[in-house]
Amino acid sequence: MDIDGGAQTDQTNETVSEGNASNPSNESNPSTVGEPQIGFADMDLSRDMRRSLERAGYEEPSPVQMGVIPPALDGQDVMGQAQTGTGKTAAFAIPILEQLASPQEIAGVQALILVPTRELAGQVREEFEKLAYYMDIKTTAVYGGHPIKKQIEVLQNGVQVVVGTPGRVIDHINRGTLNLHEAWCVVLDEADRMLDIGFRPDIEKILRAVTRKDRQTLLLSATVPPSIQRLATQYMYKPIMLDFSTTNVSADTIDQFYFTVDRKRKFSLLKRLIQREQPHQAIVFCRTKRGTDRIAQQLAETFENVGCIHGDMNQSARDRVMKQFRNETLKVLVATDVVGRGIDVTSISHIINFDTPEDCDDYVHRIGRTGRMGREGVAYTFVSDDEGELLTKIEVRINRLLEQDAIEGFELKVETPVEYKKERVAAVAAMRGRGPAKHRRRL
Ligand code: ADP
Ligand code: MG
Repeated sequence: MDIDGGAQTDQTNETVSEGNASNPSNESNPSTVGEPQIGFADMDLSRDMRRSLERAGYEEPSPVQMGVIPPALDGQDVMGQAQTGTGKTAAFAIPILEQLASPQEIAGVQALILVPTRELAGQVREEFEKLAYYMDIKTTAVYGGHPIKKQIEVLQNGVQVVVGTPGRVIDHINRGTLNLHEAWCVVLDEADRMLDIGFRPDIEKILRAVTRKDRQTLLLSATVPPSIQRLATQYMYKPIMLDFSTTNVSADTIDQFYFTVDRKRKFSLLKRLIQREQPHQAIVFCRTKRGTDRIAQQLAETFENVGCIHGDMNQSARDRVMKQFRNETLKVLVATDVVGRGIDVTSISHIINFDTPEDCDDYVHRIGRTGRMGREGVAYTFVSDDEGELLTKIEVRINRLLEQDAIEGFELKVETPVEYKKERVAAVAAMRGRGPAKHRRRL
């Protein structure tokens, strides 16, 4: 059996046009451009919050935080779009923590954060705990794969903030162990991915269970396809839309390259690339769970400290792998998109797309795992001859051409490479409706 990541999936997500069509244009929306820069000092924050920010080492707010925190502190509904790794969690956690009532005033759960994956549930809860360090506030995470009994106990003892995945939250609502009648805030975090996973009916059910008329709803997402806009118009009250996704979607701190390679030789190329790059920590993204398993196993024959994570593994195995990756015991993590989404490990130096992502947004999210908060990172995408079109789609989406890299002996022979390149430039330019931007590299 050959070692390709497999193209067994039949996704035909066409997010290019969708994403663009729905992108609120900069003219009609407030954005960072031309806006005065504000610091945490200019915000109406409590002394305890200022101290936690200092302790966390957050000196200045990121653009999405500058935009979202002030109106959210005012109790308004806000929809914030910003690429991954830009601090969206604190953008909603800070205003929520600042608005929490004392448990004497409101005994029940006050804020509910919905997230797409278990990993993210844990991560968001940690961010809340970090920012509530000097406050007497209880938070908990509820998600599948962990014993529900323990979660029920914690909920019964009283918590102000619950972070959860939609499935498990519904489970608790149905059991009567999570009462949301007093909750005044709901957050849809990584809303685009929650909809991708098919959580829409669950999300709507949960939103209907949060019955307070004066509910505040916050929505954070890296992309805003029409499905999210519909959700926002139905369930949010006069939301303020903030778009911080720049035209150049992928962070400037990430160098992005591609390799053309024969599908059957992708695995050998992967080995050679890891040997060449000696990454501090790398994630190798694959399309399928089966491919993920196989590649991890085979890499482990050559390299030490290789791990693997995907949705078929049980929760304790997933937790163990993430812990090892976070404490840098693992150097290389082979992962599928669903799990890779939202992982925040700042020491990741390399992203390798073993399979070219079929969904351009997945590309943006994958590479967003590196270059976090301005650190440097590099992303490599393996492109076999049947994946060329996907590469063009990605380049259109990020409005930038990836640079070609090569390792001797692995180049895929393309008949007329120059023509091919020109074609790509033309395709990108045509789809964008204008010539190549100045910042693009020369050909
Ligand atoms: P996103 O949800 O947009 O992908 P995260 O909320 O996961 O981003 O934040 C990414 C990283 O940035 C986290 O490690 C977080 O601790 C850090 N971070 C967030 N806000 C700030 C800030 N104002 N200053 C410094 N680091 C920050
Ligand atoms: Mg996030």
